[in-house]
Amino acid sequence: MNSQKFKVMDMTMTRPQIIAELKKHFDIRELVCPHVFNEFGEKSWQFFDLQFLQMLYILRFEIFAEGMIINNWHKGGPFTERGGRCNICAICKDKTLHGLLYMSAHANFSGCDYDVPGIPAEQTRQRVIANANKFPFKIRIEGKVNWNHNDCYDDPLTSSKVMVF
Ligand SMILES: [Zn+2]
Ligand SMILES: [Zn+2]
Repeated sequence: MNSQKFKVMDMTMTRPQIIAELKKHFDIRELVCPHVFNEFGEKSWQFFDLQFLQMLYILRFEIFAEGMIINNWHKGGPFTERGGRCNICAICKDKTLHGLLYMSAHANFSGCDYDVPGIPAEQTRQRVIANANKFPFKIRIEGKVNWNHNDCYDDPLTSSKVMVF
């Protein structure tokens, strides 16, 4: 009956436990590009580092009960690169072909873009900032875009818990 029931993330939660909970709400195809899924299927979970999984858990269970839309390519939608991006994903490939550096958190599988149904992007950013204390590590938010991007990069030259870039 209680759809809000979940375990608050703490450091005793193991990687398999976090993944098991995330799988109740996320198909792995929402988190990786078709290139990776077609090669690795469910094994694609292996590419995400623990901090990203912890961040996603907190976002989904403790902040956005409304749900999060990351990739939707598996449902016929246009989004393929909102989670992890592999080296042959268009965004990464184009940078490489043009000799441009690309250090996006997407390429390191430590960040994602998403929309929350019914909530404008700026409001989702403000809600993440208001809940910064829930994260046991620093996170980043991309500002001034029409979606929300969060990642776990930790800039040692900034002390703020949530860095907007
Ligand atoms: Zn790819
Ligand atoms: Zn992004």
